[in-house]
Formats: sequence, C-alpha cells, structure tokens
Amino acid sequence: MLEATNLFFNKAADHLELSDRLRTILLTPKRVVRVEIITESDGGELLHHIGFRVQHNEARGPMKGGLRYHPSMDEDHAAGLASLMTWKTAVVNIPYGGAKGGINCDPSKLSAAELNRITTRFVGLVKDIIGPTIDIPAPDVNTNAEVMGWIMDEYSRFNGFNPGVVTGKPVDLFGSLGREEATGRGVMYALEECLKRRGKGLSDVSVAVQGFGNVGSHASRLIAEQGGRIVAVSDISGGIANEQGLDIPQLVEWVSEHGVVEGFPGGEAIDGAAVLTYKADVLIPAALEEAINDANVDDVQAGIIVEAANGPTTPAAHDILHRRGVTVIPDILANAGGVTVSYFEWSQNIQQFRWELERVVRELELVMRRAYGDVADLAEREGLDLRTAAFVLAIKRVARAAASRHTISHHLPPALLRD
Ligand code: NAD
Repeated sequence: MLEATNLFFNKAADHLELSDRLRTILLTPKRVVRVEIITESDGGELLHHIGFRVQHNEARGPMKGGLRYHPSMDEDHAAGLASLMTWKTAVVNIPYGGAKGGINCDPSKLSAAELNRITTRFVGLVKDIIGPTIDIPAPDVNTNAEVMGWIMDEYSRFNGFNPGVVTGKPVDLFGSLGREEATGRGVMYALEECLKRRGKGLSDVSVAVQGFGNVGSHASRLIAEQGGRIVAVSDISGGIANEQGLDIPQLVEWVSEHGVVEGFPGGEAIDGAAVLTYKADVLIPAALEEAINDANVDDVQAGIIVEAANGPTTPAAHDILHRRGVTVIPDILANAGGVTVSYFEWSQNIQQFRWELERVVRELELVMRRAYGDVADLAEREGLDLRTAAFVLAIKRVARAAASRHTISHHLPPALLRD
C-alpha cells in the first residue's frame, strides 16, 4: 500500500522536478504510533491487539483520516493510507492534513461489547495525540457511526465535551446529516462530471460495483436514482448480475436483512471476481486495495474506472489501463466526498450549529464538481492522466503551505510555484 502510494507520488514529483530532499520531507510521516491493547473477552479470556495511528502531514490543517479494524491492518497499511489522506484533503481543498490508523483485529469474531472495550482502551492510549485541532479520526472499513460515538465518549471523559474529536458520529450524537452516504454521493458527482465532458450523463451508462458496504451501496443507489444501470454487484459473499439493471432499493433491503448480496433473487449469481471484468461502461471498485491488478487488468472491459475504494488499482495495472485509454478517476478525488462531509461535521461541531441536509448536499456537490474540474483541466493542460494530475495539484498545495510555515519557499522548484 505504502509502496503504491509512493510510486504514484513520485510520478507527479518527477513532473514537478522535485528534489530528493523535498520528496523525503513530503513523504515522511510526522508521527507514527503503535499501541498494545490488552482487554478481556466476554468469556473472561485475555485479548491482545495492536493498534496504529500514522499522522502524515499537518501543513494545511489538523490531520484527518479513518480508523480501520481489519486483520490486514499494520503500520505499512496505515502509512500508505495516511499519505493518501494528505493528498486527498488537498485535492478537494479542505483545511486538513492526513492521518490513518486502526486495529489489527477480525471484528467478525468479536462481540459489540468486546469491540467497545478494545476501542475504549485504544482511545485511552492515543488520547494525547488526537483532538479537534490535532488529529480527527473517522470511520473506515469495519468501523461505523457507533464506534465513533464510543470514541467521542471516551475522549470527552478526559477532555470535557468534545464532539469535534471524531467525525462520522451518529446524527443523534452531533453527527452530520448526509455523512453516511457522502462518499457514495461524491463518487456519483465525480462520475457525472467525467461523463459530462464526453457529452453523456449517468442515464447513458451501465455500471459494475465491487463491494456493497457503505460506499458501494450508496454509490449504487444514487447512480441508479439518476438513471444509471447497475448491472453487477459483488461483496465478500460473491456476485450478482442483471444486464437489464439490478433493482438497487430491493438489493439494499435484501442486504440489510441477510447481511450479504448472496441469494438475492433479482439477478443471476456470478463469481465475485467476475464483477471486476463484467461487461459494463463503468467499473466502481468499492472494497479493498489491489482489486485491479496484473492478473485481471487485461480482462477489465469498462472504459471508466471510479476508484471509490482506497488504492484499488496497482501501479502496474494503472499504467496498462492508461495505455489502453481507460479513464481512471483516482481515489484521492473520487472518494473524497466522505472526508468533505466530515469537514462539514467538524465545522458544525465547533460552531455548535446544525446544517440542514439540503445545505450539506449542496456544498458537497460544489466541492466535488470544482475538484473534478481542477484535476481534469490540469490533466488536459499538461497532458497527464487524472491520477498524476491530482497528485500534482495536491503536492503543489501541500508543499506551498509547508514551505510558507517553515519559511523555505525559496527551496521550491519553479514548477511548484506556478498554478
Ligand atoms: P464497508 O466495510 O462498509 O464495506 C466493504 C464492502 O466490501 C463490503 O460489502 C464487503 O463485503 C466488501 N468486500 C470485502 N472484500 C471483498 C472482496 N474480496 N470482493 C468483493 N467485495 C468485498 O467499507 P466502506 O466504508 O464501504 O469502504 C470501502 C472502501 O472505500 C475502502 O477502501 C475504504 O477505505 C474506502 N473509503 C471509505 C470511505 C467511507 O466514508 N466509508 C471514504 C473514503 C474511502
């Protein structure tokens, strides 16, 4: 994960003719924290887990990024994802830096009470390095509004009432209206902007979606509401396809009842991996990293890939897709809707003021459409793919802010100072 992020960064850094020293400064995390979490299971057994928080860069504001509970979570993962957050918050131009963390655990084997104890202990161990003006966690894979509520509660025990310490909280506990669906909504706007530049709209395309959790299900629902045809969907249980278009509200209901897409009667069961190579105009990977890789990239049929997940395309696969003329809307642009509404939530918390849903949606739409335009214009102007353009834009913003803070602007190359 870290290696892939660094490769993408370096491609943009080459374009900007950044020195090795500047690259090192921009890539090195500000702080890396590893904590040992000892708790007891419901049955009184000893439990042992390792938690991480990597704080990558704070040049543009407090650091921001999700917490992931997964057996693959380690320092390398957290570092790669933390770096992505720095570039993502810069691409959408919100006043944050980047961080990421999580706990190496398998939540499917833990009860809610056990997860609560593990989370609470983790907060106790990192409470001095997080906070509304320092580092603000949010949900990621296998964490949700409920977990964010526990974090706010535990942090507030030490620091007084502090809802701005985490975002993605329950709406009843100072969460923002529209946060849960924000990443999926942002994915829809990014795709719509991309299609608009080709004289098309969402109702002109068929779409395959890998992953039907928070991001995948909301993106599917919102795209279908605008007339897009969702022809294939997968999750951990397998895939489901219907060339006429799946009935997404019914599928959402099925998944909320049964937990997985498997067995849904409104489509034909297919292999989960086949969704990535399904015949569709658009592919939305919305699960985990490296979904599109050496092994399957040649079989991908979509002409547009919208990276709803973080890091779903390996650098080698990205090069092949680019050569084939496939448009890849990169993660640091495509899935930035979540962190954008997290920013709105934090702003509301600090002001003790609640926005109506209509305002959240309107402002998110503005941010996403503007960011897509900034990246696509730069890509066209400088002959870059969208990912390299997004990194170029982000590196310029972060490097300029960092240089201004440290009064080292004279060390920046001319390409970095030009808009
Ligand atoms: P989630 O846990 O709600 O859902 C993940 C989905 O992926 C589930 O449906 C799961 O069954 C499926 N999945 C897991 N392994 C799979 C496999 N091998 N094949 C097919 N499906 C598989 O997580 P989420 O919040 O929707 O996050 C998904 C991705 O989006 C992650 O990469 C995350 O970092 C990224 N992301 C999330 C947000 C957010 O706001 N939640 C914001 C930005 C980026």
